[in-house]
Amino acid sequence: MTSNRAKSKADDESTEAASEAQPKEVEQQLCGKPHFLPALTHVTCTQPAPDPDLPPGTPDHQHQHLDGDALYIW
Ligand SMILES: [Zn+2]
Repeated sequence: MTSNRAKSKADDESTEAASEAQPKEVEQQLCGKPHFLPALTHVTCTQPAPDPDLPPGTPDHQHQHLDGDALYIW
């Protein structure tokens, strides 16, 4: 029965691994950069995060945050 138990243990492990492998969800990341003014650090950019593959030196996008009727752009 020893070999049988070993097989059953292997089955358990493969089932566990399969349940952890979930389909990767593509989640839209936000930029989240806070406003440059110290008084407005609660204002964070709601634009999509810049592509991390962009080469260094690529200028930032125009950060934006819509707070009610106020649109902050920096
Ligand atoms: Zn931004």
